Amino acid sequence: MESRYYSYNQYLQETFGERVHRLSLDAGFNCPNLDGRLSTQGCTFCNNRAFSRYTKTKNRSIKEQIEESMLFARNRYNAKKFIAYFQAFSNTYAGLKTLQKRYSIIKNFKNIVGIAISTRPDCINQEKLSLLSEFSQKYRVYIEYGLQSIHATTLKKINRNHNLQSFLDALNLTKKYKKIHPAAHIILGLPGETRKEMLETAKFLAQTPLWGIKIHCFHVVKNTTIQKEYQKEKIKLLSQEEYLNIAADFLRYTSPKTVILRLISDASPQELIAPKWLNQKNKALNQLNKLLEERNIRQGDRLTPREN
Ligand code: SF4
Repeated sequence: MESRYYSYNQYLQETFGERVHRLSLDAGFNCPNLDGRLSTQGCTFCNNRAFSRYTKTKNRSIKEQIEESMLFARNRYNAKKFIAYFQAFSNTYAGLKTLQKRYSIIKNFKNIVGIAISTRPDCINQEKLSLLSEFSQKYRVYIEYGLQSIHATTLKKINRNHNLQSFLDALNLTKKYKKIHPAAHIILGLPGETRKEMLETAKFLAQTPLWGIKIHCFHVVKNTTIQKEYQKEKIKLLSQEEYLNIAADFLRYTSPKTVILRLISDASPQELIAPKWLNQKNKALNQLNKLLEERNIRQGDRLTPREN
């Protein structure tokens, strides 16, 4: 079945000519929304253990994590090329020397072809981007900014402690570095958000110079603030059908040139409380593809030619 959106796998094939595996790393960074600089509570949904394999095993060095993940991906997927994905917490939240030292560990591995950095938009500046752009001489460089929603009320509700302007400032700085590929993390189904508001986020992002978008379904994991609200039945989660329909509509307002890094969230089954359908990621993805087919819709088909 022909894909109706520009998937990350398609991008990897076009760019590297083969499947490239992401090595998910916890490089020992912190986050200003957890260490007290902005708050100690963190985002209401945050529990890094739920999505990072290595946060549980703080005693492993970055090098060891890379070696172990490479071995796993080689055995399991016959992977030959890799992208080092600095995933857990805010991976630009440190001084330049520390960043340089931790990122440079990838230089020990000749099969690493890219570096992807996940961070908050208020944790970047020109110096950090210049450092990353030095890596672009040898590696593909990606930076993923957590935005989640363009709406101030939602950002406040989930205790993000940054606003849309921080994201726009980060993107404006990043676009000066042509070889750094910027992406945004978005969550659909955040507490209190309507379908209309979620689609407003898509329409807004279509006007920005984003290379990629990672879309998550809002979910509840253990040891988070939102867990208590969910258990008191104070928040409602999207059903699979609702999520897939909104995600499909979100794609329609997304430029067809934007790479869709993810459509269904990854959450560890041990940490996930709800919705349980996320545990069957492949099934949900198949359903989404079927839905796009049945509705005869595709990424970007609601944008005007100028927006495309
Ligand atoms: S910014 Fe990221 S790491 Fe920090 S609290 Fe929020 S989700 Fe957690």
